[in-house]
Formats: sequence, C-alpha cells, structure tokens
Amino acid sequence: MIKKHADIIVIGGGIVGSSILFQLAEAGYTNSILLEKSKFASGSTNASGGFLRVLHNDFEHTKMAFEGLPEFDRIKMNCDFQKTGMVYVINSDDKPKYDHQIEWLKNNGISIDYLSSSEYETWSNIVQLKNTDTVIYEQEAGYLDPVTCTNDWINRAVELGAEAHEGINVQNILFSDGEIKGVRTSFGDIYCNILILAAGAWSSRLVRPLGVDLGMYSKAIQINFFENQKQTAHPIVIDEKSDIYLRPHAGGSSILMGQPTSEFEVNLEQDMSLNHEDTLQLIEQHNPQYNWLNINNLFGGRRSFDGFTRDAKGILKKEETIDGLIIASGWSGGGVKLSPSIGKKVTELVESVKKERTIHESFHRGRV
Ligand SMILES: Cc1cc2nc3c(=O)[nH]c(=O)nc-3n(C[C@H](O)[C@H](O)[C@H](O)COP(=O)(O)OP(=O)(O)OC[C@H]3O[C@@H](n4cnc5c(N)ncnc54)[C@H](O)[C@@H]3O)c2cc1C
Repeated sequence: MIKKHADIIVIGGGIVGSSILFQLAEAGYTNSILLEKSKFASGSTNASGGFLRVLHNDFEHTKMAFEGLPEFDRIKMNCDFQKTGMVYVINSDDKPKYDHQIEWLKNNGISIDYLSSSEYETWSNIVQLKNTDTVIYEQEAGYLDPVTCTNDWINRAVELGAEAHEGINVQNILFSDGEIKGVRTSFGDIYCNILILAAGAWSSRLVRPLGVDLGMYSKAIQINFFENQKQTAHPIVIDEKSDIYLRPHAGGSSILMGQPTSEFEVNLEQDMSLNHEDTLQLIEQHNPQYNWLNINNLFGGRRSFDGFTRDAKGILKKEETIDGLIIASGWSGGGVKLSPSIGKKVTELVESVKKERTIHESFHRGRV
C-alpha cells in the first residue's frame, strides 16, 4: 500500500533521487517516499557510462565529486566498480587553470598529477597525444554500474524505513498559498510537507504550472561501442579539448566512447537509437588522434538525454517562491559522480526548511 501522507516526497527514481532518499533516511528522515513513473534507473541513469572521477573542469564540481567519494567507497564493490585510472587530456595552454585544483586534491589525499607524454606512452596508446596536449593522471578513477548503484541506495533507504514505488506517475504538484501540499499521482493524491524534484530532464515540465521556470533544456548524449583489438586494459579517458570520453567496455574487449551531440529539446518519451550521422562525424573528427576509430569496428551504443543548464551546473536549491519545494535537477551529463554529494546537500536543505518553519511557528505563536 502507498501512504497517503509523508513528511517528504522525492519525485524521480534515478541515481540522484535514490541517493537523496538514502541520505535522508540515514539522517533520520524515514517518513519519506520516492515515486518513480517507470522503473528505477530507467531515465538518463540507465544509459550512463558510470565514470567515477574527481577532477572536473571547474573546481565546484571537483569538490562535489571529492565529497562523494566516501559514499561510493561504501557501495562500489556491489556496483561492479572497475579501477582503471583516468587520463585527462587538456590543451597545454589551460594548465594554469588546473594547477590549483591538482594541488588541492593532492593535499586532500587524492593520487593525481601531471604525466609526461613519454610516461604516458610507456603504458597506454589509446590516445595519440598531440604536441599541444598535457595529460593529468588520476589513479583511483574508474567506472561503475549506475543502475545497480541506484537500486542499492533504494534498498538501503527502504531497509532504514523509507518507501520507494515504481510505476507511480506524478501528474501534478499540489500547492496553495505559495506552499507545497503534495502530489497528484496516477493512484491518487499523496500529501507532504516537503517535495524534492529529482526528475531529471522531466523536471521542468512538472514545475511549469507552478510558475517556476528552471531554465533547463534537454539534450541528447550518445555513446558508441567500438571493438578493441589493440589494448584490452586501458584507463578511462576524458578529452577535455573536444568533450569526448571513453572507457573499457565488456571487460575491455571493446571501447565505449561518448560524444557531444547537437540534438536539443529531445522528445522525452521516444525510443532512442544511435544517430548514424553523429557516429560518422565522431570518426571523421577524431581519427587519427584515436586511430582505432573506424566505422567497421562499431557494434552498437546508446543514445539518451539529460537535463542541462546553461552553465552545465546542476540546480540545487530551495525554490524561493514555493515554500517546501527543493530542486535537485539539471546535472548536464555528469550526475552520477555528483549524486552522493547532491544527496547530502539536499538533506542539509531539508534541515534548513524545517528549522525555518520551527522559528516561524514559534514567532507566530508568540504574537497570538
Ligand atoms: C549516454 C549517457 C552517458 C552518461 N555518462 C555519464 C558518466 O559517465 N558519468 C556521469 O557522472 N554522468 C553521466 N551521464 C549523466 C548522468 O547519467 C545523469 O546526469 C544522471 O543519471 C541524472 O540522474 P537523475 O536521477 O537526475 O535523472 P534520471 O536518471 O533521468 O532520473 C529521473 C527519473 O525521474 C523519473 N520521472 C520523471 N518524471 C516523473 C514523474 N512525473 N513521476 C515520477 N517519476 C518521474 C524518470 O522516469 C527517471 O527515472 C550520462 C548520461 C547519458 C545519457
């Protein structure tokens, strides 16, 4: 049976919603319900490459990924974590931008440093470096299965007393007098004090009727699978100059390679298959630097989407105009590694909403 009242409702059972539910339950907020319209981890999380790394091109995300490491350490063995190390390729001109981050990470115990091209070439040839390239190496990075991770967090939250339901579509958000009241679902209304929006690319349309514009848009992401006869064990690679990334796939016998696309405002209900034009463009632009890229080696891939913001930073805040609404959406193609930190920050926001209400109520009572 689904409760009719809960303290907190989380909309969306992707990796972000599941991490939030788990963090809330661990902090003692067990009167919480997560509602997922389809299957858990069936949205963006389902197609994700599951790259797990700390270094990002902006310090804020680096810090968030760093803060999430202990949470991943607790579950990564259940989630098929593969430690491969990460080769992060930047243009040498951008090096000053990374110096400070690398120093900060080293001071915080992360094994990361610049690698000379000769050091790199002695153990990997997955990327043919250009003279203008600089390589950063992060030793503990790798990848995991985000679907297992999502289900793991949901199971742990449920064990602690929270609830999570699949197949329950939130049709509308109920609110009046600028305050959240609950949600209308395909199985009736459920009332709550705090509502957390973690519905990925679907988030915008859920809050539009409340007059809230998240400034988010959906964008397609494509990953292609290529056979790999050259090198079975190789690191994950993030090529910051061209926004492409790769990792071993299927035990290393193939390569999963992600690329940016220019398909915006995707139809969120459509089945998505690989776009042939995008694959050809990837090969044309990046061979010879990735000299194994060849259409004859392609044997499949995945195309999906995520909710993006203009600055590619997620939206993590209390909605000022609607009391009790917290937004955790718009992770712009990078939500997996940030998910533990998002869960922790949402828990802090819930605490602050509760505190404000206690202050407000005692102030109000004092006046009567
Ligand atoms: C091809 C691809 C590769 C990627 N690779 C990486 C990577 O390597 N590393 C990384 O960090 N990130 C990666 N990402 C991005 C990452 O997958 C997303 O940022 C992350 O999964 C977002 O999680 P989420 O929970 O916010 O959204 P989602 O996983 O999309 O979950 C939202 C959920 O909300 C549900 N929902 C929507 N509307 C409703 C409603 N009305 N009622 C109830 N439920 C609803 C949906 O069904 C969905 O399950 C990749 C993404 C793609 C597409």
